[in-house]
Amino acid sequence: MPSIFSKIIAGEVPCHKLAEDEHSFAFLDINPNAPGHALVVPKREVDRYFDLEDQELARLNQFAKKVARALEAVVPCQRVGVAIVGLEVPHAHVHLIPLRAMDDFHFNKPKPKPTHEELAQLADKIRQQFDRMP
Ligand code: 5GP
Repeated sequence: MPSIFSKIIAGEVPCHKLAEDEHSFAFLDINPNAPGHALVVPKREVDRYFDLEDQELARLNQFAKKVARALEAVVPCQRVGVAIVGLEVPHAHVHLIPLRAMDDFHFNKPKPKPTHEELAQLADKIRQQFDRMP
């Protein structure tokens, strides 16, 4: 059965999409640690991040770098942190988290609960920024 992320990539489950290319897909995390928390996912469904082929890892990170630059331009933060976890969704993905404090790295802390409208507006700004990037 396809992962929830494969269903999102296929458009079968809605998301607040940020960017897409031939091999990668980025969208806002539904339960963000901090505003702008994004997930960057390879379209090929592989469970563990380090089971991706070298070329896939390179492509995913080049794409994630562009998403991170767009996040830094739009979301007030000190910098964008990167985490690989995968305990919940068995489809390799990179967490990009705009950090204002170390606490924003804690996945089990009480989290902001953005509305659908807030997520949609933020995704729109990040998407526009991404599309302007070289
Ligand atoms: P991990 O697998 O890295 O432990 O965590 C999976 C992440 O995916 C979590 O931060 C969770 O909030 C996010 N997530 C899980 N299901 C969905 C979903 O259906 N939509 C979105 N946008 N994010 C999800």
